[in-house]
Amino acid sequence: MPTLICPDVLVDGTGGEARRNACVVIDDERIAFVGTRQGLDAAFPDRSGWDEIDGAGASLIPGMIDGHAHLTIENIDDTSYPGIDAPREAIVLYTLQAAREAMAAGLTTLADCGSIGDTLLHVRDSINQGLTVGPRILAAGPSVTTTAGHGHYLGIEELADNADEIKVAIRKLVFRGVDFIKIMATGGASDPPSNRYRAQYSEEEMRVAVEDAHRLRKRIVAHVNPTEGIINSVRAGVDALAHCNWLGSEEGTVEYVPEVAQEAGEKGIFVDLNVFATLVPIAGRDGIVSGWEGPGEVEYRFDLIRDMERRGCKSYFSSDHMGRNIANWPQRLVQARHTLKLDPVEVIFRVTGRAAEGIWLQDEIGTIETGKVADLVLLNGDVADRIEALTDVRAVMRNGSVVVQEGNWVHL
Ligand SMILES: [Zn+2]
Repeated sequence: MPTLICPDVLVDGTGGEARRNACVVIDDERIAFVGTRQGLDAAFPDRSGWDEIDGAGASLIPGMIDGHAHLTIENIDDTSYPGIDAPREAIVLYTLQAAREAMAAGLTTLADCGSIGDTLLHVRDSINQGLTVGPRILAAGPSVTTTAGHGHYLGIEELADNADEIKVAIRKLVFRGVDFIKIMATGGASDPPSNRYRAQYSEEEMRVAVEDAHRLRKRIVAHVNPTEGIINSVRAGVDALAHCNWLGSEEGTVEYVPEVAQEAGEKGIFVDLNVFATLVPIAGRDGIVSGWEGPGEVEYRFDLIRDMERRGCKSYFSSDHMGRNIANWPQRLVQARHTLKLDPVEVIFRVTGRAAEGIWLQDEIGTIETGKVADLVLLNGDVADRIEALTDVRAVMRNGSVVVQEGNWVHL
């Protein structure tokens, strides 16, 4: 039997304005109708036996998508985390709990950009097989990186120090069942010896990576802090630039290159923009800034993204959070809305419809439209007016079934 929800406010994830007095019908796993009450009466005059979820005083949005999470690791003071060197079984159990807590917070899809060994693949598979209820997971497995490179500790059997080794690493990952490829095109902040201000791979090496990933029909996301790595990744044609910090090779500098942003835009490259990092300055105010001056660093940083978007890039918001901290991401979205003075509907768009495009799932999820999978979140309050409603979840639906209601698990 179909299920009916008529929320006070509907934000459908397309970026369009919030709608009042809309109704949504879910049949089986998918959305069967979105429209007005009058339209509903005309399309379904007889609704006897239907279930109805109370939408009074609530907003309905698509299940949120975190396009960049790290479920199997933890970097905050979480005493429940077994540790990166713990038995893999312990990491699997922790990861499942982290995934389920994220789903209870409204995150029905998580694209994991770097996990320990095969642990996340087992969690993903157990959810897909229906052994347990959890979010949709897309796993990159361990990232492709160099000896002593950024994230080298994630259980990578094949560290890749040249083009041939990159091919081997990608092929082994795909054979093990990853959903997409994450490559550390530059060093990172969490591994100071890897030097976050320099590229780890040349343009030619990045081309080999992109060619092989695409040959195997996998999306490839490049971790890029400095401009040097952004240039190599854009020239090579990666699908998404994670972080995209435009750091100069000298500490404390920013080097934005409009021509490279232009090329990225023409190629339709996505920016995987970590919300937390967006709220933090990337360089001192007296950094080398080519062509941009903003009133504040955080706003300036977002101005760069806006400029990239004007040139054709698309950006989605992601968390880059780890483990059980991923569930706190909606609070960061609230913070981003206030700091960057964004409309709540835009924030929601960047974590639903736009994020679905970024992870290549736009035909299945991300918007509340007829035919899409019914991954939905019902929030207490008017989220288009007060984005704080994002942190007040009334119910979460996954594949058309209510899985969390008022903080309680409905299905196990
Ligand atoms: Zn990351």
